[in-house]
Amino acid sequence: MRYKDATLTSKIEQIRRFYAVGKAAAAALTGGAGGVAVEVAGRVFGQRVVEWVVERTAAHKREILALPFLALAAVVFLVVAVSVAVVLPFTDGEKGFRGGSPSPYALAEIPPDYLQIFLAAEQKYGVAWNVLAAICKVESGFGRSQYWLSRNGVSPAGAVGIMQFMPTTWSGSRNPFARDDPRDPQYDTDPERIAKYGGYGVDANGDGRADPYDPWDAVFAAAKYLAANGFKENPRQAIYQYNHAWWYVDRVMELALKYAPETLPSGDARCLPVPKEFFVITSRFGWREDPVKGGPEFHRGIDIAAPAGTPVFATDDGVVESAGWDDGFGLEVVVNHGTYKTQYAHLSAVAVRAGDRVKAGQPVGAVGSTGRSTGPHLHFGVVVNGNFVDPEPYLSGRKAGS
Ligand SMILES: [Zn+2]
Repeated sequence: MRYKDATLTSKIEQIRRFYAVGKAAAAALTGGAGGVAVEVAGRVFGQRVVEWVVERTAAHKREILALPFLALAAVVFLVVAVSVAVVLPFTDGEKGFRGGSPSPYALAEIPPDYLQIFLAAEQKYGVAWNVLAAICKVESGFGRSQYWLSRNGVSPAGAVGIMQFMPTTWSGSRNPFARDDPRDPQYDTDPERIAKYGGYGVDANGDGRADPYDPWDAVFAAAKYLAANGFKENPRQAIYQYNHAWWYVDRVMELALKYAPETLPSGDARCLPVPKEFFVITSRFGWREDPVKGGPEFHRGIDIAAPAGTPVFATDDGVVESAGWDDGFGLEVVVNHGTYKTQYAHLSAVAVRAGDRVKAGQPVGAVGSTGRSTGPHLHFGVVVNGNFVDPEPYLSGRKAGS
């Protein structure tokens, strides 16, 4: 279908892009939840857009054939857009996440020697650094609170150390070297024996002791505990297991969001450009038969055969370098990550603009078949020093050499 009016064409294009991205994002994020409210809202707002489209189209009679398509696209777009807006705030807190960049508030409050521990623990256990920081603040004020110091780091209940572990949680419940006695708590510091008895205490700083008063050991042990209690699937429930009180969970989460207002989705898919279930490589990097013209062709990326409309995620934090049309690659997004760039091509829609900052896991567009393409797929490329390289080592967190 061709449209001649430039304004209308660009509006149509906008609707089409938003629709594709919205639909894809909604499918990936909500799995059909929140349907009723969404449909009602969609009908209310959809009608107005349809009216607008009818008016515009009537003014451009030669476009009359486009009307049903436009109306349909507008309605579906609105239903989906509202669905994302309605459902996202509810699902957000219940799914796994990781901490974004530290806020100025975090940098002012968290001692630098502690901040690096939280970040390292997130790397190892996949537990958001800002949650670890918030727990540490609440439990011991980063080992500096007057109350904590005045009690030598022992709570009235007998919890010990920087992150306030009960001695037997730290050491293992049947460890003979541990005792939960509020007047005289005892904990084990032998990492091997702790492991043998199923305790959470670890020797993270490598001094041979698992010491709940050592910030590295204590924070890593807490991360291990939260990970074991399902932090990735349900962070709030995992935090609840830490202190068995919902006010405590609220307090920790409130603080965590002050430390890092942006949180990022977590899980294995976060460094893949499409949701994990759609990640099927159908053509690798290197020489191959040209799928369009035949004959040998050097394939400058990998092809992932995800269905049209599947959301496409930035694989790493970065800045959008370009988002637009390329004759060969069709609708294409290029993200600059500093030491390398990633390219997402043949998209049906783009969700970002040049200059936007994106986080790993953030949608940048939707899978399509624009440009020189024989069917819906994502072409994913990686550029290092101006040359296309094999993208596979850059996926799934295996960011070799960067
Ligand atoms: Zn390709």
